[in-house]
Amino acid sequence: MDKPVLAIIIPCYNEELCVKAAIERLLDVLDDLIKKNKIKKDSYLYLVDDGSHDKTWSIIADFHRKNSRIKGLKFIRNFGNQKALIAGLEGVRNIGCDCAVSIDADLQQDECAIEEFVDKYTEGADIVSGIRKDRKTDGLFKKFTALAFYKLMNILGAKIPQNHSDYRLVSKKALNIMELYPEKYLFLRGFFNEVGLKTAFVYFNVKPRMSGESKFNFMSLMTLALNGITSYSIVPLRLVAVLGFLMAFFGFLVGVETIIEKVFWHNSPNGWATAIILMCVFGGIQLFCLGLIGEYVGQVFREVKARPRYIKDIELK
Ligand code: UDP
Ligand code: MG
Repeated sequence: MDKPVLAIIIPCYNEELCVKAAIERLLDVLDDLIKKNKIKKDSYLYLVDDGSHDKTWSIIADFHRKNSRIKGLKFIRNFGNQKALIAGLEGVRNIGCDCAVSIDADLQQDECAIEEFVDKYTEGADIVSGIRKDRKTDGLFKKFTALAFYKLMNILGAKIPQNHSDYRLVSKKALNIMELYPEKYLFLRGFFNEVGLKTAFVYFNVKPRMSGESKFNFMSLMTLALNGITSYSIVPLRLVAVLGFLMAFFGFLVGVETIIEKVFWHNSPNGWATAIILMCVFGGIQLFCLGLIGEYVGQVFREVKARPRYIKDIELK
């Protein structure tokens, strides 16, 4: 295969402390790969400023002025990391490239792995997923919730690779297929796994954040996880139906038992505590199920409105 034009996509949200070092480091990576004759000279960086309130965009624009290999896009406001990634993928498809790698601005993902990504691409893979070797840099809570999420997703039938963050290479072919998916809340980890293109894996080390703080909090991680589940599996809805059936059946059995006791043993049913407990438990389960169905209704609601995924403010090509 001919050597590719590589685009590196970097989503940035309030990353003024990291973005300069990230650009310089990733330019070095590009230059190194060009020197090794693995990618074409017109490979470039594409930074997506996800509505930062700090100096992130002015740093990107400064770099662009000096070096046109640094391109960028600024959102009008914060739309979230997935939208920034999608915008990056769409942006580089429009500008033109043979393959694109997405990497975080804090360079937590080992940028040296990009060479391996490109090698796998040259060997014929359309998607190369980066897999974390470990989760040493994560807190106990994130470790646990991440593990639970990947396990749950697999049980629910959406087979996404475990410990794959959005550090991956995708080919032009994959980018073109993405265009066929109009859903606004596209969950990239699920999508690239679902399309069925030839996939390879690269294992990389995770480093501590360069500087600044994580831009993800509990709520944004929950939102991402829920979107992942509700856009790639309807198994929870089926479980709700099964649960409803089992509960009704249980109620029926209890009813039969009560009648038998009354008729044959003349026991008036007692068990006040049991009644209260059952009421609370079943009431809770019902509300949980309603909430779960609500998540899917919400998903439909958001998609049906078909609002734009993101709004561009400035693009530097
Ligand atoms: N990010 C973004 N928009 C957001 C939140 C995060 O573009 O609303 C970017 C962020 O700048 C970084 C990447 O997504 O480049 C990953 O975020 P972060 O490192 O804060 O997440 P963590 O590594 O803690 O999961
Ligand atoms: Mg990070």
